[in-house]
Amino acid sequence: MKVIILGAGVIGVVSAYFLARAGHEVIVIEKNSSAGEGCSYANGGQLSYSHIETWATKTSLFSMLKAAFLPNSFLTISDCASKEFWSFATEFYKNSSVQKSQENSQKLFALTSYSREILKQIINEEENLSFDYKNNGILHFFRDAKKLETAVKGVENYSSLGCRTQILSAEECLKKEPSLIKLFDEKKLAGGIFYEDDASGNSALFTKALTKICQEKYGVIFEWGTDVKNILTNYKKITGINTSKGVCVADKYVYALGAFSTKLLSGIKVETKIYPIKGHSLSMSCDEEFVAPKLALTDSENKVVYSRIGNVFRMAGTVDFCGLKSAKNKGQISFLKKVLKASFSDFGNFNRLEEWCGFRPFRPNSIPLICEVKKYGNLFLNTGHGSLGWTMSAGSGKILADLVSDAKEKKFGFLNEELR
Ligand SMILES: Cc1cc2nc3c(=O)[nH]c(=O)nc-3n(C[C@H](O)[C@H](O)[C@H](O)COP(=O)(O)OP(=O)(O)OC[C@H]3O[C@@H](n4cnc5c(N)ncnc54)[C@H](O)[C@@H]3O)c2cc1C
Repeated sequence: MKVIILGAGVIGVVSAYFLARAGHEVIVIEKNSSAGEGCSYANGGQLSYSHIETWATKTSLFSMLKAAFLPNSFLTISDCASKEFWSFATEFYKNSSVQKSQENSQKLFALTSYSREILKQIINEEENLSFDYKNNGILHFFRDAKKLETAVKGVENYSSLGCRTQILSAEECLKKEPSLIKLFDEKKLAGGIFYEDDASGNSALFTKALTKICQEKYGVIFEWGTDVKNILTNYKKITGINTSKGVCVADKYVYALGAFSTKLLSGIKVETKIYPIKGHSLSMSCDEEFVAPKLALTDSENKVVYSRIGNVFRMAGTVDFCGLKSAKNKGQISFLKKVLKASFSDFGNFNRLEEWCGFRPFRPNSIPLICEVKKYGNLFLNTGHGSLGWTMSAGSGKILADLVSDAKEKKFGFLNEELR
């Protein structure tokens, strides 16, 4: 069977990998000249399998509202005039009840756990896949003892699902990650939660390396520099993809364009409820000037993550509701720099920091859409992975390929419940 995949981000490429391995003829259409140049490019790098709390919860709703009114915070809203923002905000609110957020977290955990398993399989099978993978846990640290206490209570809720965690004192955090010394000395380290099963790696490097494997080992064709203009239908079926280089035709089609181009879907009456939430990252190569953390860290209070990706230190976070405005938000970049400066000593020269922004394809319930669009029969979605797309990529690609090949994994039926 011939399958066309739209988008060569981490999600599109893992989908291509599993579809090709299942014996299909696969073509990937991508507007950029190589893979992993969209949101998968310089994200936080964390494989947060255990961090399954959805963004929509009662507490986060309150802290987001508060942050929206504070100058210099992790969150800004400049898209108040758009219908898309308000419909996202309304759905987000509906998903923030205790019951809804717990249900959504359980679903996320099923998907992240499966992804961990599948990534290990890919690593075992593809020896040329190198992406600075580190399988040694993530430490969430806290400055405020009360916030730590609340987080510990939350963890207790999820330990029944199988999340393996260690609650650590400030001294124990420091032992795990000595670069936390500045916060410790300033008495700003209350303790932390160590998620043993979590990992980190370079998602762009992974996407590019897997693309090469797809091309060389499994014969996947990548059409670079090809812009998807619209999806052609005869009302019951997708009949082709209109691109900047002409019309492309296949038996089945997979949409993996992330936060971009959701208008292509609403144009054919498929509503994904995806909103592009912009985030930023700072990257710096490590040398003797900067004693960078070696362990992946999460600063829960500032909603910031830190990863050591090979020789690069990366900090990522911020939430910018601005639609698809591609310019970096200067206020959010300076927020990140301020947090970095306040958290670590010897951070080196700020001028060396590489600034980046990307759009998380965010759904109000944090659950991606990995499903067949029933209305058309030959259209499939693998999109809406929000802040955990790198974490969920391996499992999502496998589930999608099984769906397209008609070998449905029943336990993931919840992924398409809204589009049935
Ligand atoms: C600041 C930040 C930090 C993050 N940190 C983490 C983290 O630590 N861990 C984690 O798990 N996740 C993280 N994420 C989320 C993660 O990066 C995303 O969920 C993931 O990259 C989404 O992958 P994707 O393939 O769906 O989208 P993308 O990577 O954006 O891929 C979509 C592709 O479609 C192409 N495309 C779009 N429109 C067209 C068109 N019209 N024609 C042709 N091609 C098109 C784009 O060029 C792109 O290559 C972070 C995100 C941000 C912004």
